[in-house]
Amino acid sequence: AEELKIAVGAMEISDKTVGDVMTKINDVFMLNETTVLNPKTINEILRMGYTRIPIYSGDRNNVVSLLFVKDLALIDPDDNFTVKTVCDFHKHKLRLVMADMSLRALLEEFKKGEYHLALVQRRTKDPDYLELVGLITLEDIVEEILQAE
Ligand code: ATP
Ligand code: ATP
Repeated sequence: AEELKIAVGAMEISDKTVGDVMTKINDVFMLNETTVLNPKTINEILRMGYTRIPIYSGDRNNVVSLLFVKDLALIDPDDNFTVKTVCDFHKHKLRLVMADMSLRALLEEFKKGEYHLALVQRRTKDPDYLELVGLITLEDIVEEILQAE
């Protein structure tokens, strides 16, 4: 029965979009690039438990980079580096997808193995402006496949 559920889940993701299963923007843990990496902020980051953290410049709609928690391993908290300094050093690639992308298409993309997290955008009335609406990882798609009944 478990196998059947997984098979059904795998079929059902074809009807779903990224927007259906993403983590919504207000629940995304992000940091301003100006954040100073001192013992207090490093502890806070570790306490959140996420491996990858979107980094914004100015306002939360303007994500410019990703911070990986493992990037903090070699940081001396007494150096008071900013998040921006660490991000400029590692330059992890930021991937963006549209909320109406099919889950199956993103799963195929994730399966190539280059990345497993993307920020999600949506078109607005203004054709020049994309709104940041969430974050999606491979885990979100796998969960969707395993949970379907
Ligand atoms: P990993 O499992 O590789 O250590 P993780 O636990 O940080 O990474 P995932 O397992 O990929 O993250 O995802 C788990 C859930 O957390 C997913 O629902 C994903 O959307 C969400 N998530 C991942 N990163 C963040 C973040 N920075 N803020 C909020 N939610 C996040
Ligand atoms: P400007 O045109 O004001 O000089 P810009 O071309 O860098 O700035 P914005 O106009 O600030 O970009 O943003 C346009 C849209 O593109 C925003 O809604 C934002 O969501 C999106 N965007 C731009 N860069 C990123 C990024 N690195 N990550 C996520 N979204 C981004």
